[in-house]
Amino acid sequence: MTDAVATVDLATFRRNVETLVAIAAPSEVMLAVKADAYGHGMLPMSLAALEAGATALAVLEVGAGLELRAAGVTVPLFAWLHGSSTDFRAAAESRIDVGISAVWQLEAIAESGAATPARVHLKIDTGLSRNGASAEDWPELVSTALHLQSQGFLEVYGAWSHLADASAADDEIALAKFVVAVEVATALGARFEKLHLAASSAGIRLPAARFDYVRFGIAAFGISPFDDVDAHGLGLQAPMTLSAPVVEIATLAAGHSTLGGLDVSLPEPATLALVAIGYGDGVQASAADRAEVLVGGSRRRIVALGVDRMLVDADDLAIAPGDRVVLFGSAERGEPTAEEWAAHADSIGDEIVASVAPRVPRVYTG
Ligand SMILES: *Cc1c(COP(=O)(O)O)cnc(C)c1O
Repeated sequence: MTDAVATVDLATFRRNVETLVAIAAPSEVMLAVKADAYGHGMLPMSLAALEAGATALAVLEVGAGLELRAAGVTVPLFAWLHGSSTDFRAAAESRIDVGISAVWQLEAIAESGAATPARVHLKIDTGLSRNGASAEDWPELVSTALHLQSQGFLEVYGAWSHLADASAADDEIALAKFVVAVEVATALGARFEKLHLAASSAGIRLPAARFDYVRFGIAAFGISPFDDVDAHGLGLQAPMTLSAPVVEIATLAAGHSTLGGLDVSLPEPATLALVAIGYGDGVQASAADRAEVLVGGSRRRIVALGVDRMLVDADDLAIAPGDRVVLFGSAERGEPTAEEWAAHADSIGDEIVASVAPRVPRVYTG
């Protein structure tokens, strides 16, 4: 009997990517596969995204880009989170484009000793204030990059930013700031080959923000970036199904009992199923009081949650040990969704799927 498994249906994922490619066209899709493709597994999701029409991948860190290059991925890769140990030389020599937020990063590139110029995308902060050059620092970032370009250290290739997605109005303001920053850089002599700004939210709802690439992330994983419409409403479906087997079924008397090492206090006798998954597998403890699972064709609540076990209400269910319980999966199959779990956990769907523990095997279908 296998324990907890995260099944990832690549056919569903490819359909999502195809849907998003069609939405973005004629802009291209640079699929974001950060956080191990939001917990789905970076390499298989990257390959599936490219089959489905994405033309570039956004990987967060240079190290992840190097992994994809080692696996034979040849499309443009974009990494933007750098620290003092970032290997800019390896990035340049492996043709991994780097997002640049600060002058120190340009200097590190110049000092890296790379045999080939690094391809850089300069980042303007348009309001998210996480990184990127402020409007005040932007001319210096651009001028420094152009100077180092003239010395052969790098190629100024792109300009980009990231939207906060706090509201449509904020995104419009950020878009306007981005356009101004590109004009400022152009006046300083920059010639950008690629501009990119939108992620899932603006990529779907703000066509003017699509530019050359839309960096879709979570939407491709079947999770809506919006509060007012779910993935199903966007024509997207969740590729990941998290399930675990029933290991024991027991009818317990009213009062205090223990089953599988978990304590329960029952107001009346109840039949419970012990299921082989717990918060150590990434089940959100904060959602467990309110979340439902699908067991024996029925939506049931979680009665108790431990590190690798949980108890589920199984009254009147015709189930047996070995039957699988679905924690979240696809709305189309009547399963609870990661979006529902996110609502119960006061979180976002990204966190629910990305939190599935590494020890849970990912099994690919489709
Ligand atoms: C996470 C991320 C994305 C994708 O965002 P989603 O909202 O998941 O689509 C795109 N670009 C950058 C820079 C990111 O950090």
